[in-house]
Amino acid sequence: MGTVHDIGVLGSGPSALCIASALAARGASVVLVAPQPDARWKPNYCLWADELPAGMATLVERSWSHALVATSSGRRDFARSYVKLDTLRLQAALSDELRAHGVDVIEDSAVDLEHVEDETRIVTASGHATPARVVVDATGGGSSFTRRVHARPPAFQTAYGLELRAPGHGFDTDRMMLMDFRPAPVSSKEPPSFLYVLPFDDERVFLEETSLARRPAVSIDLLQSRLEARLARLGLLGCERLGEERCVIPMGLGLPTAGQQVIPFGVAGAMVHPSSGYLIAHVLRKTGPVAEAIVAGLAAGGRDEALSRSHAALWPASQRTLWELYGFGLETLVGMNAKEIDRFFSSFFDLPIDCWAGFLAGTQEPSAIGAVMTRLFRSLPVLIRWHLVRTGLVAGAAPLARSVLRSGVAG
Ligand SMILES: Cc1cc2nc3c(=O)[nH]c(=O)nc-3n(C[C@H](O)[C@H](O)[C@H](O)COP(=O)(O)OP(=O)(O)OC[C@H]3O[C@@H](n4cnc5c(N)ncnc54)[C@H](O)[C@@H]3O)c2cc1C
Repeated sequence: MGTVHDIGVLGSGPSALCIASALAARGASVVLVAPQPDARWKPNYCLWADELPAGMATLVERSWSHALVATSSGRRDFARSYVKLDTLRLQAALSDELRAHGVDVIEDSAVDLEHVEDETRIVTASGHATPARVVVDATGGGSSFTRRVHARPPAFQTAYGLELRAPGHGFDTDRMMLMDFRPAPVSSKEPPSFLYVLPFDDERVFLEETSLARRPAVSIDLLQSRLEARLARLGLLGCERLGEERCVIPMGLGLPTAGQQVIPFGVAGAMVHPSSGYLIAHVLRKTGPVAEAIVAGLAAGGRDEALSRSHAALWPASQRTLWELYGFGLETLVGMNAKEIDRFFSSFFDLPIDCWAGFLAGTQEPSAIGAVMTRLFRSLPVLIRWHLVRTGLVAGAAPLARSVLRSGVAG
C-alpha cells in the first residue's frame, strides 16, 4: 500500500472534480479514483445567472436575458437570466486545477471501503487498496457507499433532447423556454411532460422533452416520440441533428445519515434539489465551505473531526428540514396528472418572482419556503389542493408540512 493521502475522492463527474480541486487548492493531498477519469462530460449544465459564483463567468457558453414558462393559462416572460455552462471548458478547467495541484488519479472503480483506525482503504476492482484519511463519495445516484436515512426508491427526472442545426427555427434567441406544458401533439397527455428549449443562435437550437419527476421513471423512448411529434409540428423534423442528450436524474434519494465514515457529495449525497432536479448551483455553492471544513477538521482533530465538520457544513438542521419539505413537494408532483401539473405550475409561476425563485434556489430558511408553499396552496384550484392534502397523508409528510407551514404563516 502506498502513501496515505489526506482525501480520497471517488468519481470524476462535476461534483468530484469541484471538491477535489477545492481540497487540493487548500493544500490537502488528494487522490481521485474513477473508472474513466477522462471521459468527456456531455450534459448541457445550466443554472440561473444569479446563482453563478463570482469568477465563473468565463465558463459560460451562452446566456439568455429572459426565461419563458407556458401553460394552458398563457405564456409568462421573466426578466431573469439563465446560463449554460461550457461543459468541456468546465471539465478542462477543473482537470487543469487537479493537475496543477498534483492530485493523483487512479483509473479504477471503487468496489469497497475498509474503514480501519484512522484511515479508509479504497479497494478497487483491480484488487488494489488505496489508503486515505477521509473519503468523499461522489459516485452519483448509484452509490453503494453512502448510508441513507431511508431506502425509499427515488423518483426520476428523465429527458430526451436534441441539438439541431435549424436555420430560421423561429425561437427568440434572447429567451429560453424553461417549461412549456402545452402538450405534445400525441394521442395521450399522460404521463405529463414539458418542452425545454435553448435557442443558441439563429441556426442552432436545443429542444428537450422532460418528465419532471415520476416513480417509476418515464421512459426515454416515450419522451423521444413526444419530442419528434413536436419537431414535426414545428417543421423541424428534417433538420440536421448535432447532438443528443439522454437525462436520468434520481430525485428524493434518502439524505445521508450523520456519523457515517464517508462524506457523500453531489448526486450521491442527495444534493439534487428534490423538487426541481437541479444540482450544479448547489454543488458550486457548497464546494468551498465543505472543502474548508474537511481540511480544517483534519488539521484540528483528524478524520472524525473532518467527517463531523463536513456533515455540519453540508447538512445543518435547516437544510435537512428544507430538503424534507421539498421531498413533500416532490411526492405531490410525482402523483399529478397532466391537467393538475399544468394548473399547479400556472399558479406557481404566477407567484411573485422572488417567491418562486427562492423556492427553486434551495437556500432559504424552511419557514420562508413554508410561507411560499402556504401562499401557493391558497392560490391553487380546489382540486389540486385536495391532491396535495391526500399526498401529504399518504406520504406521511403532514406533520412536517404542518409544522413548517405554521412557522411560515407566523413569520
Ligand atoms: C443529461 C443531464 C443534464 C443535466 N442538466 C443539469 C442542469 O442543466 N443543471 C443542473 O443543475 N443539473 C443538471 N443535471 C443534474 C446533475 O447536475 C448531473 O447529474 C451531474 O452530472 C451530477 O454530478 P455528480 O458528479 O454528482 O454525478 P455524476 O455526474 O453522475 O458522476 C458520477 C461519477 O462517479 C463515477 N463512478 C461511478 N461509480 C464509481 C465507483 N464505483 N468508483 C469510482 N467512481 C465511480 C462515474 O464514472 C462518474 O464519473 C443533469 C443531469 C443529466 C444526466
